[in-house]
Amino acid sequence: MNSSCPLRLVLLGPPGAGKGTQAKALETRYGLRQLSTGDMLRKQIAAGTPLGLKAKAFMDSGALVPDDVMIEMIESEVAKRDAFVLDGFPRTVRQGQVLDELLGRLQKPLSAVVFLEAGRDALLPRLAARWSNPRTGRVYNMTSNPPKIDKIDDEDGGPLVQRPDDRPEVVEQRLSTYAAETAPLVDYYKERGLLVGIDGLCSIDEVTAAIAQALGSSAVTPA
Ligand code: AMP
Repeated sequence: MNSSCPLRLVLLGPPGAGKGTQAKALETRYGLRQLSTGDMLRKQIAAGTPLGLKAKAFMDSGALVPDDVMIEMIESEVAKRDAFVLDGFPRTVRQGQVLDELLGRLQKPLSAVVFLEAGRDALLPRLAARWSNPRTGRVYNMTSNPPKIDKIDDEDGGPLVQRPDDRPEVVEQRLSTYAAETAPLVDYYKERGLLVGIDGLCSIDEVTAAIAQALGSSAVTPA
């Protein structure tokens, strides 16, 4: 780990590996702010903004939204916070390089990059069973982690929906996009001594515990 508190983390991993779920767990456990670029984009789409309209076409086809759009979106969020967990950013080596430059300028180096490892065979059924709260981004798995009331969020009672990009044909494309554009970040961060590999196929609590253990004593739980 590069630094002690405050924690600045990146969650890396293929679609369905559990980034959103673990980001929320880390948010609760360490008081970090979850910065989910996917959630930010979905909010723009729901609000019908020009950015949302532009992004939707890329997202619905399983492609990435262009780097410049994403970099602009995340810059101010990162700049105004000391401790955060990035969920879904960076997704290309260029985004990783720009993030390094930005955090260097701000003198806020990353603490670690948590790589949630999961193979394709496990990801397909996970994504098919995924329902989420569009308002908060909270994710459920209808098989392994269902809500107490069918299709209703335990926390705020809001309706759960299936994401349009979790349809099987789009999922295939998202996995290919991940392999081509995002997976190279694993070596990028390994070379920088930041990568922490975690088996993403264990239960939610086991994965959270493994991340906490890997972060070690420098990750202080707020009082
Ligand atoms: P997620 O909710 O993280 O799975 O993201 C959903 C979709 O939003 C992705 O499949 C991309 O189309 C887009 N997206 C989210 N984050 C990024 C990013 N950092 N770079 C490019 N596209 C992104």
